[in-house]
Amino acid sequence: MKKGLLIILSGPSGVGKGAVKRILMEDSSLDLTYSISMTTRAPRHMEKDGVDYFFVDQETFQKNVDEGNLLEHVSFVGNSYGTPRDYVEKLRNEGKNVLLEIEVQGARQVLAKMHGDDIISIFLIPPSLGILEKRIRKRRTEPEEIIQARLKKARGELACKYNYKYIVLNDIVGRAAEEIKGIIRNSVANHQKS
Ligand code: 5GP
Repeated sequence: MKKGLLIILSGPSGVGKGAVKRILMEDSSLDLTYSISMTTRAPRHMEKDGVDYFFVDQETFQKNVDEGNLLEHVSFVGNSYGTPRDYVEKLRNEGKNVLLEIEVQGARQVLAKMHGDDIISIFLIPPSLGILEKRIRKRRTEPEEIIQARLKKARGELACKYNYKYIVLNDIVGRAAEEIKGIIRNSVANHQKS
């Protein structure tokens, strides 16, 4: 059996990665498996442990870092996030195409370690910084200093777009998701042929 693709969906905070991810995961014809991250952030309303994230305390997270269990990990506006390595590898070895929805620093760590045609990296960009700020503020779940930290980080991250195989404009979420579906379908078809 062929090892599955690793599909990395990244982009600045507030660009709409989560919304695009949901549309991709709801399309059963794509048959993607989502890589559930580990985080020290508290669950938001309706979020479930083992579905949205593995919610852990800082000590458990650090233990996973120390034991080298994370493919990448970052500290992001006061919380830690990371991708469980074995979980992703196990799924790929079963032939599953795995989707990672992660922020830019973490994606950079993965792209520095993993190369080849079976790594599909996609960077979502906002139509403008002003629109990005509006999207971040619309969430209204965070205090002003966190919003400012997210915005500052986002500005720097936009410069990273050239490290990715694909750059997709998130003007309208449904359209951006359709474009990404096309990228994934083509990548899967090429991977099967190779
Ligand atoms: P949120 O707290 O809104 O769920 O996520 C904050 C940011 O962390 C988002 O940009 C999301 O893509 C990113 N993120 C979620 N899981 C991971 C992960 O495992 N690694 C990295 N590097 N970023 C992650």
